[in-house]
Amino acid sequence: MDSARALSDARPTPFWLEDPGRPAALPALVGGTTCDLLVVGGGYSGLWTALIAKERDPSLDVVLVEGKEVGWAASGRNGGFCAASLTHGFGNGLQRWPAELGHLERLGAANLDGIEATLGRYGIDAEWERTGEIDVATQPHQLDELHEVAEAVARHGLDVTVLDRDELRAQVDSPTFLGGIWDRDGVAMVHPAKLAWGLKEACLGQGVRIFEHTPANALSEHGSGMAVRTPYGQVFARRVALGTNAFPSLVKRVRPYIVPVYDYALMTEPLSAEQLAAIGWKGRQGLSDSANKFHYFRLSADNRILWGGYDAVYHYGGHVRNEYDQRPETFRTLAHNFFRCFPQLEGLRFTHAWGGAIDTCSRFSAFFDTAYRGRVAYAAGYTGLGVGATRFGAEVMLDLLEGTRTERTSLEMVRSKPLPFPPEPVRWAGIEITTRSLERADRTGGHRNLWLRTLDRLGLGFDS
Ligand SMILES: Cc1cc2nc3c(=O)[nH]c(=O)nc-3n(C[C@H](O)[C@H](O)[C@H](O)COP(=O)(O)OP(=O)(O)OC[C@H]3O[C@@H](n4cnc5c(N)ncnc54)[C@H](O)[C@@H]3O)c2cc1C
Repeated sequence: MDSARALSDARPTPFWLEDPGRPAALPALVGGTTCDLLVVGGGYSGLWTALIAKERDPSLDVVLVEGKEVGWAASGRNGGFCAASLTHGFGNGLQRWPAELGHLERLGAANLDGIEATLGRYGIDAEWERTGEIDVATQPHQLDELHEVAEAVARHGLDVTVLDRDELRAQVDSPTFLGGIWDRDGVAMVHPAKLAWGLKEACLGQGVRIFEHTPANALSEHGSGMAVRTPYGQVFARRVALGTNAFPSLVKRVRPYIVPVYDYALMTEPLSAEQLAAIGWKGRQGLSDSANKFHYFRLSADNRILWGGYDAVYHYGGHVRNEYDQRPETFRTLAHNFFRCFPQLEGLRFTHAWGGAIDTCSRFSAFFDTAYRGRVAYAAGYTGLGVGATRFGAEVMLDLLEGTRTERTSLEMVRSKPLPFPPEPVRWAGIEITTRSLERADRTGGHRNLWLRTLDRLGLGFDS
């Protein structure tokens, strides 16, 4: 079957958000209110910040405002790979913070355990499966790179399992697989929207007041705190935490650090027992290949395959727009690549196709700071690996607002910032050249051209 036909029934909407358990939106804020802490944004960043603030001090009056609905954006439409890594993977962390990577890895592992413990504590059923992730090589040069990473991981006293071709294909069978490394404990699979909705429920249970369809339109100083304007009201807050991800930050100077990059995914119909048997996958791990333009794929609880990634699309001007969520040419490419990976599944159909914005920054891992003399904190720049790391970012924002130096705020990663992106049209041109160079590197045995080597030297990059 050609890939266009496999897509012909696909609904243009995120599979996860279609769940019958999707909660109704809470009423918008009308009139004025006061609070100790205002959280802006109802994705994981905002939800974790509100929840942990209440856990740290139950007497704190916490309000969360969400412009649309809790979990509608990246948090409800991602791949559901919940990783311990705080640095967009071990390799990126090693390149940028070699001296503190061991520390970052320990904090990341504790963060992942903390997420799992929270799910247990509040009885959140988010289809959590701590099955780990296998990074797969589909080209000989990727095999060498994976082995180098495995050696570096081992030098840091961490554990990954190296799989040769046959061992890998005994786990998940694709004729394209040459070998892989399996991080057994550092990644869990989760139903992304159920995680967001569960956190919303937990916040409400702890007394957080949540207003949906309530965009925060402007921030200003007010007495010793802040005033935040919304369409039908105003919030006076002692402190404000911003979890607004790829959307324009209310602190304007943060904007040049982030570009919204669109990432896309497909979901198949549920596999029959025979189809599943044809590919194995009894361990239900998440997988991703190791190309610059990489795919990520995993099973859902009802044995569908989510297949995403490959294209990472930046639109001139850097806007976040609903119409960018659909990109038929990317869906066709993804479908084509899916059947190349799993020819055994010929005839399988896709039921859902969607995209969403990620907050890419030039170092691929989040940055943190305060504004308005310490009254406002922000965390952004998770670049496609924020499902787990946003909880760490929430802790950092709360530490910063409390003004206390902690193990987290002492980190070089937390104290430093990425290089900002240049203004348009240089920004668009630079991203375009980088994307084409990365594509070429994938076709030429991983060879990085002069442009990419220069960016590497400057510590700059573009990723999803
Ligand atoms: C297709 C896709 C696949 C991905 N796959 C993975 C993955 O497998 N693993 C992984 O770790 N990461 C993945 N990510 C990234 C991950 O989803 C994000 O890093 C994470 O969800 C970020 O959470 P957040 O709360 O910061 O942002 P969001 O979920 O985007 O939430 C931000 C919220 O803020 C609200 N908002 C913005 N401005 C305002 C305002 N002024 N007033 C009020 N509300 C406002 C928005 O409406 C939105 O709901 C993926 C992302 C996409 C799009």
